[in-house]
Amino acid sequence: MLDNLRDPTLIPLRIDPRGWCPQIEQHHSPNFGTRPAGIAINLLVIHNISLPLAEFCGPHIVDLFLNRLEIDAHPSFHDLRGVQVSSHFLIRRDGHLIQFVSTLDRAWHAGVSCFEEREGCNDYSIGIELEGCDFLPFTSDQYLSLQLLSKALIDAHPIEHIVGHDEIAPGRKTDPGPCFDWNRYANSLPHWDVQRSGLG
Ligand SMILES: [Zn+2]
Repeated sequence: MLDNLRDPTLIPLRIDPRGWCPQIEQHHSPNFGTRPAGIAINLLVIHNISLPLAEFCGPHIVDLFLNRLEIDAHPSFHDLRGVQVSSHFLIRRDGHLIQFVSTLDRAWHAGVSCFEEREGCNDYSIGIELEGCDFLPFTSDQYLSLQLLSKALIDAHPIEHIVGHDEIAPGRKTDPGPCFDWNRYANSLPHWDVQRSGLG
């Protein structure tokens, strides 16, 4: 799968009519609801997450999103007891992609949030988590997978803006953080109207 993903011209990702990407790993999280009727899905939200902080490649992020996190596995997990969250997508350090919630559904990724005076960003956004933290660079494989996934989402939905979680929850959230290279990401979407997206 990863080898196929390395050349973005070979295997474009696509979102099927049910809001799932059939080409990537899927785990169905229960942490979602229905979107308001008729709402346009026009916002992408970029996050980072690592469990424990800055430790990568373990099972804990997937376990959190599937409500099966072993709370006693690490002292820092105690704050996550009872927390019900999930993004739509997770991009691992090696670029591996996992989907948890249909893009047609409202995943619980942004929490209390506001974009351009519209509150409740979960209603109209798609959340992408990069496995990472605020103080370490993301990997080239992650940027490539993010590029492929973003193209698929832009094709499938009327995406108008791409923002960081910190932008829609200032003071409460800091991700994806200063190590996320917004210019690199914007440059990877050459057919995307960067002005319109709010990138760069
Ligand atoms: Zn976040």
